[in-house]
Amino acid sequence: MLWNPEIETMPRHELEKLQVERLRRTVERVYQHVPFYRQKLDEAGIGPAEIRSVADLARLPFTNKQDLRDNYPFGLFAVPKDEIVRVHASSGTTGKMTVVGYTKSDVNTWAEVMARTMACGGVTNKDTVQVAYGYGLFTGGLGAHYGAEKIGAAVIPISGGNTKRQLQIMADFGTTAVACTPSYSLFMAETAAEEGIDLHQLPVRVGFFGAEPWSNAMRREIEEKWGIKAIDIYGLSEVMGPGVASECMVQDGLHVWEDHFMVEVIDPATGEVLPYGEKGELVFTCITKEALPLIRYRTRDISILSNGTCACGRTHLRMHRVMGRTDDMLIIRGVNVFPSQIESVLLEIGETEPHYQLIVDREGNLDDLEIWVEISERLFSDEVRKLEQIEGRIRREIQSTLGISARVKLVEPKTIARSEGKAKRVIDWRDVYSDGNR
Ligand SMILES: [Zn+2]
Repeated sequence: MLWNPEIETMPRHELEKLQVERLRRTVERVYQHVPFYRQKLDEAGIGPAEIRSVADLARLPFTNKQDLRDNYPFGLFAVPKDEIVRVHASSGTTGKMTVVGYTKSDVNTWAEVMARTMACGGVTNKDTVQVAYGYGLFTGGLGAHYGAEKIGAAVIPISGGNTKRQLQIMADFGTTAVACTPSYSLFMAETAAEEGIDLHQLPVRVGFFGAEPWSNAMRREIEEKWGIKAIDIYGLSEVMGPGVASECMVQDGLHVWEDHFMVEVIDPATGEVLPYGEKGELVFTCITKEALPLIRYRTRDISILSNGTCACGRTHLRMHRVMGRTDDMLIIRGVNVFPSQIESVLLEIGETEPHYQLIVDREGNLDDLEIWVEISERLFSDEVRKLEQIEGRIRREIQSTLGISARVKLVEPKTIARSEGKAKRVIDWRDVYSDGNR
């Protein structure tokens, strides 16, 4: 089902014409209103007037997450504060939060692209959409909410958690579509099994899953357990939130809504734009956003782009399911975690050696983090109660600093393998990317 057939099936040459026009306007906007971009564009020797074709995109400077942090909170906004109607922010687990803003028109655009996304899964005004993404500063909940409402579906803004109630409401209210993280959908399935609820008896027929990496194997599991179609959706708050790209019912790559976001894949080392079909880092340029139009934003997500009209009739480029990250960031239960953060918690606590290892696994259907920490020789001979105290302290500190729970295991001195080069800090058994290569 198409939400906006004219745009979604627009012939490529027309779509590109539209993109160039919008790109030029965006560059003009940031050149006028954002000192950061004015300086960068001047340095690159390119101004709005030089934007004549899609290829000119590659001449523009990159933006990265650090630029957002350096300009915290509103330094990259291209409109005065009184035009901002909404502010969201990322979890900010490493230092400062990433703050994003929206004008009225941006919120409308966001609803439009999320409406297209939901229409991709066949949602109409006859549907009841249960939004189990978190509401709040995180963009997931409200993004899905506005899109479903725009279609005219009935929205249940339940947010995450409260699993038994989620299932009860699904049955009682006749939920036909669900939006949440893929791991949460499997957790719900587990709870349903414990409660003796047969998910196949529920009216749910489609799910929109994103905000964390997942594999095709996981998709199969979700589809079987729920008896639904599982649609992979993609987005990031810096670019918009959910609604940047979505799979259609063909499930052969995610359509990037190119009339709003231009997409490139680059070699992360050299910054060179790679041709379709080659694996590299996804880069997005917002070409309709008013409040925070980012130019060539480096996502660090690894994917592949493919062109050609999809069997569904849409002409917009498709990106493959995200295959990994250019950095070492871990996503644990939807939270961004850097090994360096855990390291600093351990260092602050003292009593332990600077040798540790993170073991990430998927217990049942939820991510599980175990931290092995070497303790000092002196402490090792100490009493058990003292060791338990330290374990508890590390656990609490990790919980309050990173917002995730972890199991802590203190190990004897010299048990964690040493390395001459880069220490292997992370052992990730989840292997969620392994069959992500289509
Ligand atoms: Zn398609």
